[in-house]
Amino acid sequence: MDNGLGYWSYKHADLNADREAFVQGESRVTYALFNVRTNKLASALEGIGVGKGDRVALLSTNSIEFMEVLFAVAKLGAICVPLNFRLAGPELAYAIVNSESRALFYSADLHGSTQAALSVPEVVDLQHVVCIPVDEADNAVDVPDGVTLLGYEALLESGRPQDAHHAVDADDPLLILYTSGTTGRPKGAMLTHHNMYANAIHLILAGQGLSRYDKTITPCPLFHVGGLCVHTVPLFYTGGCTVIMREFDPAGLLKMMEQEKATVEFLVPAMWSAVVRVPDFDSYDLSALRYTQSGGAPCPITVIEFLQSKGWDFLEGFGMTETCAGAMVLDADNATRKLGAVGKPVMHDDARVVDEAGADVPQGTVGELVMRGPNIFIGYWKMPDATADAIRDGWFHTGDLARIDDEGFFWIVDRKKDMIITGGENVYPIETEQVLHHHPAIADVAVIGVPDEKWGETVVAVVVPEPGATLAAEEVIGYARERIARYKAPTRVEMIEELPRNATGKILKRELRRIYTGREE
Ligand code: ATP
Ligand code: MG
Repeated sequence: MDNGLGYWSYKHADLNADREAFVQGESRVTYALFNVRTNKLASALEGIGVGKGDRVALLSTNSIEFMEVLFAVAKLGAICVPLNFRLAGPELAYAIVNSESRALFYSADLHGSTQAALSVPEVVDLQHVVCIPVDEADNAVDVPDGVTLLGYEALLESGRPQDAHHAVDADDPLLILYTSGTTGRPKGAMLTHHNMYANAIHLILAGQGLSRYDKTITPCPLFHVGGLCVHTVPLFYTGGCTVIMREFDPAGLLKMMEQEKATVEFLVPAMWSAVVRVPDFDSYDLSALRYTQSGGAPCPITVIEFLQSKGWDFLEGFGMTETCAGAMVLDADNATRKLGAVGKPVMHDDARVVDEAGADVPQGTVGELVMRGPNIFIGYWKMPDATADAIRDGWFHTGDLARIDDEGFFWIVDRKKDMIITGGENVYPIETEQVLHHHPAIADVAVIGVPDEKWGETVVAVVVPEPGATLAAEEVIGYARERIARYKAPTRVEMIEELPRNATGKILKRELRRIYTGREE
């Protein structure tokens, strides 16, 4: 048996030939067609010299072609390197150079940043650049000497349609997937075919289960685990369908969910927050929807309660790039009772909460979350020190602080790097943020620590007021003090129009700390 991701494409071309695998706009690609197209692309890539273990960079907005490139590369046993399309030219060049990619696929709507990346002199290993067309745009780039520029369809059509079954081992790397870059420079997590398989099984089994009859819409970026590994790839394993949305738009998403009869929906919290604010939310017929899901960052409890009030189960998930998405899920049965928890480790995974020396802390005490399981990455690409630091004695150290309650449920407290120590007390900003989210005049909020002569650090709330609302700092401070311990409440409030976020919608606290302290981290 062939254990690689490609196997599932061959298999579903037989089992679910006429079912739709991916939909985007007018394009509806069945499993049979997807298999043929990815066979052709794999064979064409082989024809231009891409082989097992070679890296193929993929810089594309969400598209069916994105999934085709991933599967074609998987079929060859090569390694796909999806790139964050929000990065600037030199950052992209860094990833292309660092991964020693032999080929680069880019979508025509990103020709500007692609061009900028290709202008960096260090991009030397690259041999082929392939342009994925988008709408009418034909935005070819100038390629360096010695590099060939190819058109996507022409390349694909030059390949053979037959299944090829290359020798792919389950433990071969499938992806170098970059972390979000929330705490520093993104790290390339190496994920194997087996990591992807294990993750898919875990998320198919989590909650109410996924089947071939399920359909999701994904506006979450496919270059990140949230878009790729939570529903998109697991649904492929079941024979289900993913509708790919190129650009997120909250009302547009609701309309698409209605039209396509989406049955499951995963969004990162920042997207859910925008969706629940769509003014005519109730006018959309979302009766096909079985459950809603979030992860990747703490979801405001107000958002969870809104979705539950509409009758949907809500699954909170804790996941990281390094865990190939789902590491813990809070099932719907416990969603209300344990509101704010991230649940329990997925099938096959173990988790512990440890102190600095790696020993288990007493139950209920906060410590670092460590995990092990078949979905957990094999290391950071070309970062042996970071890998050795992260994976110790077989346990992946997540960098997140957590506690386990008396029923074994895990609660993420915050990132180690974001914890505030004020007057000797530990403050976990997420707790203060959850309280402030309930204030009717607060649209968004982030809590950070800034240096303070008297207390070491002090708590600062950075607040986005609701449009048209007037909000005084004293009001915010007083609201928090009435609900949580005084030392957890902000001593200072800064108003801001919009919080700085990265491409996966996470608040960039290091950026906020830089703004309010003037210090780089
Ligand atoms: P970087 O590692 O580059 O700094 P990142 O950690 O944000 O970026 P990801 O792999 O996308 O990159 O995110 C994983 C992190 O997201 C976790 O370590 C955790 O801090 C946070 N996270 C994920 N899910 C949840 C959740 N349900 N609740 C709270 N935090 C979460
Ligand atoms: Mg991280």
